[in-house]
Order: sequence, then structure tokens, then C-alpha cells
Amino acid sequence: MKKEDYRQRLKDLGKRKDLIPGIHNYCDRWCERCSFTKRCGSYALTEGFENDENRDIGNEKFWDDLKVIFEVTTEMILEKAEEFGMDLSNLDTTDYKHEHVENDATQLSEDYGMQVLKWIKENRNEINERAKILLMVNDKDVLKLNDAVEVILWYSFFISVKIHRAFMDFGIDEDNDDNENYINDNLGSAKIALIAIDRSIAAQGYLLEKMPQFEDKLLEFLADLSKIKKDVLAAFPHAMEFKRPGFDD
Ligand code: SF4
Repeated sequence: MKKEDYRQRLKDLGKRKDLIPGIHNYCDRWCERCSFTKRCGSYALTEGFENDENRDIGNEKFWDDLKVIFEVTTEMILEKAEEFGMDLSNLDTTDYKHEHVENDATQLSEDYGMQVLKWIKENRNEINERAKILLMVNDKDVLKLNDAVEVILWYSFFISVKIHRAFMDFGIDEDNDDNENYINDNLGSAKIALIAIDRSIAAQGYLLEKMPQFEDKLLEFLADLSKIKKDVLAAFPHAMEFKRPGFDD
């Protein structure tokens, strides 16, 4: 991709009225399963170079495209800064705070991600065999065993990432209206984490129904997810009221 093409793509996107501002901030990043790809600027920006060939990390073009995106974005930031009379080389960041917070929910969600990945890897063959049998018995099921596994895998670390972000300490004064964006970021992150937890619980429950021989382990995962959910809701009791752009409009 050429720099002029990407720059033009960014400019064209800025003019589009059909895009939903900020929709990608609190989504689950699962673009293949998203019903808002046509209205998402983030998706539109990467459309065309996210095919299998370009995703190959050994593919030179992928990294060349990424370099172009970085260069164009940096140039545009510098141009805007100049337009507004800002000197980006001399920024005072001493007042800016964003600190990582460690607690039961962040720790447990991290452990859950690692454990569930390990468990699926170790039992992949057995799961695949069971999926084949279930397909032969009833191929009309809306949800398939492999779909449930895909859901569990997709959210395995996503939950932890969003929970870490939800608990991020921006050093805010909650009574100060200027801090609304930071408070919203905590709430929006908590909400998408809770949604991912609920979907993971549903997928784990489905797995439990179809593969009762793994009852002990699956119940352990379900207990972990329920505990994480309880902790997040205790910290952010109003998280589910947060309106995510596009998804909750
Ligand atoms: S809103 Fe949908 S299309 Fe856009 S980044 Fe999120 S998942 Fe992908």
C-alpha cells in the first residue's frame, strides 16, 4: 500500500457520515462475527489487507503496510499539532496518570485465560472427535461444539485484558466533569468484559452438556467466570447501564 493511498483512505473516512464514532472502543474485536463492519471506521481502515495472505507474519507486505500506516498517522498527528500551535516534542506528562491495578478479578481472569487455553490444547483431539460425532447425529443444531470452543478461545484472554483496563486507575476525581471520559472508559471496559464472561459461561455450559466426562474441569472454569463476574459487578454495579456506541443505541 502506498502512503498517499492510505492518507486518502483516512481522509475519506473522516467524511463518511454513516460510520458510528467510537464503536470499536467497547466491542469485542471479533470482526468476523460483527454485524457493524459496514459502520466501523476501524474495520474500514484495515479492510483489504486483513486477508489470510497478509496476516501471515512472514509476509513482507503486511509489515510494509503497517509501516506505511505508522508513518502516515505520525505525519498527520504532527500536521494537526502544528495547525493547533502545539509542540509535541516538549509535552509535560507529569500530571498524567494511568496505573495498573492488581486485584482478585485481574489475577483470576489472567489465570482463567491461561488455564482454559492449556486445557483446550490438551484435549483438542477428544473435543474434535466428539464434534464429529455430534455433527453426524444432528447437523441442524444452531450452535456446534466447535463454535462453543471458538467462543471460549476468543474470549480467553480478552476478558483479562478488558478487566485490567476496567480497573485502570487514571487518578481521577469522580466529581470533576472533565474526567467523564476516563470514568466511561472504566465502565465501558467493565461492560464488554461482563458480556464476554456471559458468552463464555454459555459456551462452557454447552461444552459441559455435550462432554460431561470433563465435568470437574468445566465446573471449575464456570466457577472462576462466575467469581470474576461477581467481583467486576461489585466494583462497577452500573456497568451494564453503559451505552456502547452502536451496539446499545
Ligand atoms: S465494531 Fe465490529 S467491525 Fe469494528 S472493530 Fe469492533 S468487532 Fe470489528
